[in-house]
Parts: sequence; C-alpha cells; structure tokens
Amino acid sequence: MKNLWDDKEANKCTSDLDLRVYTSNLLGQSDELVLHGGGNTSVKSMVNGEEILYVKGSGWDLISIKAEGFAPVKMCTLLEMAALETLSDSDMVRQQKAAMIDKDAPNPSVEAILHAIIPFKVVDHTHADAIVTISNSKNGLKLIEELFPNFLVIPYVMPGFILAQKIYEMTKENFEWESCEGIILHNHGIFTFDDDAKKSYEKMIDAVTLAEEFLEKNAPIMLEELDAKEFDVNLLQIDKFMHINQTPLALKYASQENLRASVTRGVLTPEHILRTKRVPLVVEDGDVEDALKHFKVAYETYFNAYKSDEIMLDPNPKYAVIKDFGVISFGKTQKEADVINDVVSHTMMAVMRADKLGGYKSISIPDSFDMEYWELEQAKLKK
Ligand SMILES: [Zn+2]
Repeated sequence: MKNLWDDKEANKCTSDLDLRVYTSNLLGQSDELVLHGGGNTSVKSMVNGEEILYVKGSGWDLISIKAEGFAPVKMCTLLEMAALETLSDSDMVRQQKAAMIDKDAPNPSVEAILHAIIPFKVVDHTHADAIVTISNSKNGLKLIEELFPNFLVIPYVMPGFILAQKIYEMTKENFEWESCEGIILHNHGIFTFDDDAKKSYEKMIDAVTLAEEFLEKNAPIMLEELDAKEFDVNLLQIDKFMHINQTPLALKYASQENLRASVTRGVLTPEHILRTKRVPLVVEDGDVEDALKHFKVAYETYFNAYKSDEIMLDPNPKYAVIKDFGVISFGKTQKEADVINDVVSHTMMAVMRADKLGGYKSISIPDSFDMEYWELEQAKLKK
C-alpha cells in the first residue's frame, strides 16, 4: 500500500480542518481503502473555546471532500449520547444535527459518536480490502487477532449507535488507549488514530500493508486470460443501464465450480448491501427468465422472514453473475451501474482470496437484513 503523504502539500495546510481535508483526500485516492462514499474521518478542534468534532458529512466521498463537507458537532453532546442506554439511529441523527455549530453543514456521519469516543485528535476509518478480506474468512477473527495483537478487535455489530455504545462500554474504564494501535471492526473495517494527522495516516497505511503482505503470501490469486462464452445481454432488461465486466477477474469469478454457492455468500462490508443487495442474480444454464423469477421469489422470502414494518425494496437484482461469461451490473444511470461494478470487483477478489484462507464468510443473513432495511434508509423511502 503506497504512502501518498507529501510534506510540501501538508505544510500548505493552515488549520486542523485543512490538514484533515488533505489526509482524507489521500485516503480517498486508494480504492483499496475506500470506495464511493465509504469510510469516514474526523478531527477534534477548538472553536471559540469549545471542543468540536469535525466529522465527514454524509453524501461526501473522501477522495473529493472539502472543508464544507465536514459537519462540526459539539463534542460534549456526542460524549453524552455515547453514555445513553438506548437511542434509535433516527434520534441519534436528529440530536447530532441539533448539536452542530453550523446548521448549513451536511448531516454528520453515523459513526460520529464513535469518532468522539476515541480520545485522539485525528481519527481515520476505512473499509480496506485487505483487512476485510482476512476478516471475512472462516478463521477471520483469529487471523486478525494474531496479525494485529495491539488492536482492539470488535466482533460484528451493526454500524450506528449500538456500535458506538459497544466501544464506549468496552473502553470507558481502565482501557489503555495509549497502547491501542487501532480498532478493527470484524466484517466491516479499520480505525487508526493519533494526535498527529500524518501518524494516523501512516498507521492506516502500515496496518493495511501488513494485511496485504499476509494475503500476498497466503492467498495469492493468479489471473489469466479466459475465453468467454456467448451470452445475449439484451435478455437482462432490469434497469436502463448496464456495466458488462469481462475482465480476467470477472471471468475467473464467473467460471468457479459450484458457482451459485460461491457467489452468494454476502457483502464485503455492510454498507455495500445498500448498493448491491446481499446476493447477485446467478445465471448458470442460460435460462434468464427462470433465474430472474427465482431471484425475486427468494428475495421476497428473505424479506418476509425478517421484516417487521419495513417497506420492501425493489426485488430485482443489482448485478448478475453469468456462468463462463462475466458479471453485469445494473443501474438507473450509467454512473450507478459503474459504481456497483466497482464494489463488485473488489468483492470478487476478496471472496476468492478468503476462499484460499479457508472460506469466505460475511455477516449473517439477519444482520444483512438489518443493514439493508436500516431505519435511516427506510426513512428516506417513507418520506
Ligand atoms: Zn465503516
């Protein structure tokens, strides 16, 4: 993992927030760290005698975020919220918004409370491929603990308030933050932190490099040119736009044995489910109509098994794996289809690598449902 830090650029920054923008953009430049809106960053700074957390606002990408993309939230409010016994994510968002010192700023990230709890000035959070690949393998928790003995490793918890609360409970008494090199959220991602922006960034690069080297050694993937089978993509009239992927990676992925079982094991990091759904459409024998019918029935069954009062999302697939042909992503716009293709591309590599570590294993189906039907996402639909 390349360290992109440039002293000359960093020295141009004249404030905490400026430097925060600079290192956020650095993290955003590596798609092995974050993709399309993934990850979040923050800096704690004094404003008119009050401690403020500047945290990534929702709707911004780390690669292009600017100062106005950060939400300034009062630290004291965030720390009070961390100690609450229960809080719905919708109430959390409302209270965070009310504690912003600039009402025109974007909504703070749902991880704002977690950023506030970490007692260091600069906090970086990514969904680094190498970390989640190892984490999403059958022995993932053990492998991560062995590779990162000085990290706090948290078994999977849904992002949002309950994750912040869990870390608050684990660290509020007698926790040695000084000897904690970072936090790894199982099946989700990694946090690094420091009072120095450069050091926090370097800790991220070093940790991810360690994970990459482990994978290079223990789970190498060879990509060779394969011949693709014929397939009429016009049979897939799902959305207006498509991204057809027949790269060696996509072809290798689509030509695995036991294709359906291999490619339907869930997402790489929880928020991907909002873009890709938990599983793709799998076409093994060319009967697209039948495959699509089965996909929708299975989706409705999944929805009915876990729903309470949620509104069902569009039951159509977001992407398809076509046996010996490749992968096709769908979108209402070309941009959406391209974004899904990016997410799926990173997932394909991770799945095949994790299989070399003993088997890919993502979050459970109920946990997937909780994420896909998160109240914050449902609230957007109900509006
Ligand atoms: Zn995350």
